[in-house]
Parts: sequence; C-alpha cells; structure tokens
Amino acid sequence: MQFTDSHCHLDDEAFKENLPALLAQCAKLNISRIIVPSIAPDNFSKVLNLAKHTPDDFNHITNNNPIKVYPCLGIHPWFLQELNDSHLAQLSKLVAKSRNEIIAVGEIGIDGAIAKQAINHGQTPEDNLHHQQYFFDFQLNLAKQQNLPVIIHHRQSHDKIMPFLRRYQLARSGIIHGFSGSYQQAMAYIDLGFKLGVGSTITYSRAKKTINTFKRLPLDSLVLETDAPSMPLSREVIGKEVLTNSEKNGQESIELKADSPANSPVNLIKIFEVLSIIRPERPAEIANQLEQNIEQIFFKDVNSF
Ligand SMILES: [Zn+2]
Repeated sequence: MQFTDSHCHLDDEAFKENLPALLAQCAKLNISRIIVPSIAPDNFSKVLNLAKHTPDDFNHITNNNPIKVYPCLGIHPWFLQELNDSHLAQLSKLVAKSRNEIIAVGEIGIDGAIAKQAINHGQTPEDNLHHQQYFFDFQLNLAKQQNLPVIIHHRQSHDKIMPFLRRYQLARSGIIHGFSGSYQQAMAYIDLGFKLGVGSTITYSRAKKTINTFKRLPLDSLVLETDAPSMPLSREVIGKEVLTNSEKNGQESIELKADSPANSPVNLIKIFEVLSIIRPERPAEIANQLEQNIEQIFFKDVNSF
C-alpha cells in the first residue's frame, strides 16, 4: 500500500530541524507523496524551494524509496487581511511562471469564523467576508485560466463557498480540505467533481456527523490528509507518547512548538487506520482507491480536458 498526504504544511518552522529524518520516516511508512499548499506571499518561495530540493537531496536517507513533495500556490483566507490587488497580481505571475512545478491553486477558501472575529480588529464581519470572497473569486478564476485544481479551506462557510463553485464549474475541480459536515453538504461538492479531505476530525469520537458522513460517501470521493502541523489527532488514537510539553504540564491547550509539532505527516497512517475501521471495504482496497483519487485530481493528463 502507498499513501499520499494531500495536505501538509511541510514548510512550517515546526518541521525545519528534523525534515530529512521526518521524510525518511514517511518513506518507511510508504507515504510516497506529500502535497504542500502555500498560505501567503511570505511562504511562496519556501514551498517552491522545498519541493525543488526533494526527493534527490533526501534519496540517500530514504534508501531510494521515492518520496516526492508537490507544491501549490495560493492565499489562505486567514492571511489576507492586510493584502490587496498587488499580492494577487504577484500570485498570478508566480503561478504562470511555476505552472509546470505546482499541481494546484491552494489553499484558498472562505472562513466564516474569521469573518465573525473581524469585529475585534475594527472591521465589520460583512466587510471581512467581502474581502475573503474577492480573494476566493480571483483565485478560482486563476485556477480556471491555468487549468489547475484547487485546494479549498472551509469553516462555517459551506453555504458561502458553494455558489462560487457552481458558478465556476472548474473542469479539474479539487479538494475540500479537512472536510467536516453532513452527507448532503458532502454530496453537493461531489456532484461538482470535488473530493473530500479526510483528516484528524474522524479520530475524535464526538465528531459523529462527520464520521457518519465518511462512512456512507462513495470511496472514490475521498483523499487522506494530515494538515500537519495543525489539526492534532485525538489522544485516544495518537497515544500518550507524543503529547506536547504543554500537555505534559497539565495544560489543556496544545501549543505548536518547534521541538514537538502537534501533528506530523506520519500520522497519515493513523488517520487511514481509523478510516479503515469506519468503512466497509478492506484496507488494501481503500488504500488503492484513495491513491487513484489523488491521481484523478492532480495527475491525470490535463490535455484530456
Ligand atoms: Zn492547511
């Protein structure tokens, strides 16, 4: 069985120090592809460089077990408050220039919770939402122009994202990353050709609605992801040995520390194991289909469109 982490912020500071060892560990676990979205102009070149220097630089430590890092370019809805048209122009230019290196526009999207919090920064939720929509619209258009799939962030925003996707009808669709929601919401995306990212949410027994959704959806609509170093898995699944220092000290919150990221791409296997418990199919069949789903979205011959 081979695996792809369809969403990992491998360029994050949390992984900087131990990156070669981490990639070796992934290779050992048959995680052979890692897709790395960017989040803001600040990290565009970091994400591109990371992919450029893999796998050759790491082959010696992975015993030539191929592991490949694929970059994406996009502006995340959390990081666009201070950004304007000039940053979108910069993104456009870089996407065109890097068209043969990147495999998607992402991560982009709309975050309803961030819009509500804007009031704390002296902005109305409506203005914030409008700004998010402006960036989302621009980046969907960019994906359409460049014939690239998209990686979409959502939170309290299914109703806001859907009208855009219906309007654009992207031929290469994309991934609804870290999906949580109902069966009906999931099917609305699937009807538009999108796949749903299965992440750490399913490791929490309280996430009944999302677990129930992933149990029933067609297997050819799912992909795996960690979103590392964000989105830690539940303690029941992850075991006690990887608790962060702050947890060991008895604090509730999980802090992202350079020496102890809250989540790592190696946890992809744990997410897969939980999915295998939820699903009726055999693990080998699940793994095989999930890889085909990745192929279909990101690596299918684009000339066929
Ligand atoms: Zn992410």
